[in-house]
Amino acid sequence: KTLRKAVIAGNWKMNKTPAETTALINEMKPLVANADCGVIVCVPFVDLCAALEAAKGSNISVGAQNCHWEKSGAFTGEISAFTLKEMGVEYVIIGHSERRTYFGDTDVTVNKRVRAALDAGLTVILCVGEYLEQREQGITAELVAMQTKIALGGVSKDELSRIIIAYEPVWAIGTGRTATADQANEVCASIRATVAALYGADAANALTIQYGGSMNAGNAAELLAKPDVDGGLIGGASLKAPDFAKIVEAAS
Ligand code: PEP
Repeated sequence: KTLRKAVIAGNWKMNKTPAETTALINEMKPLVANADCGVIVCVPFVDLCAALEAAKGSNISVGAQNCHWEKSGAFTGEISAFTLKEMGVEYVIIGHSERRTYFGDTDVTVNKRVRAALDAGLTVILCVGEYLEQREQGITAELVAMQTKIALGGVSKDELSRIIIAYEPVWAIGTGRTATADQANEVCASIRATVAALYGADAANALTIQYGGSMNAGNAAELLAKPDVDGGLIGGASLKAPDFAKIVEAAS
């Protein structure tokens, strides 16, 4: 764990207008200025300009929440990874469970998006995680291993340095129900083992693996203390500057 710097990323989902984005980032900046971890905010596409402008010169990096796999073309309503990169965006969330559940993202299209994001020079926050039924069936580790392997198809060992994996049990997202620290650590460790089998122990030990799912100012410290939990992907609690700052502090 000492090899790895924690990364706290906010996933704002479909929240905040451009003006609200500017205000929230301005409120966050002084609160996270002394962070000893990576700090990222992933905002809606149309808020990216405002976020990049507000975050300029600060330790806050900006990410998007999805990208298409083609560079350009007849894909009405989609956004390409190359466009994001040109704007100054550094990160992109790929395969969030809300995209898989509501917008038809599959392991195969997640892999295409990962490939495109890496080709464009972005760093990927790749989300994997199980539904409650799958946890109850006892197939969490297998399922998450499969999601991870398919998503990383065609990704080289060098490129792995631009991958962050977020383990997000779907039953814990936006539900107020958090995985226990031991549950989170167990699955993060299993993902690390999967990556070790693919890329070797050194690459796996250098990989940042976040937990996400109702992480908040109150439970972050316990989750982040676990050896295989290297940070968090934060939904609801990332929309309030003081709460987000407390999570950043817990990771520092
Ligand atoms: C998320 O959307 O990635 C997430 C973890 O949401 P929440 O923190 O609200 O559960």
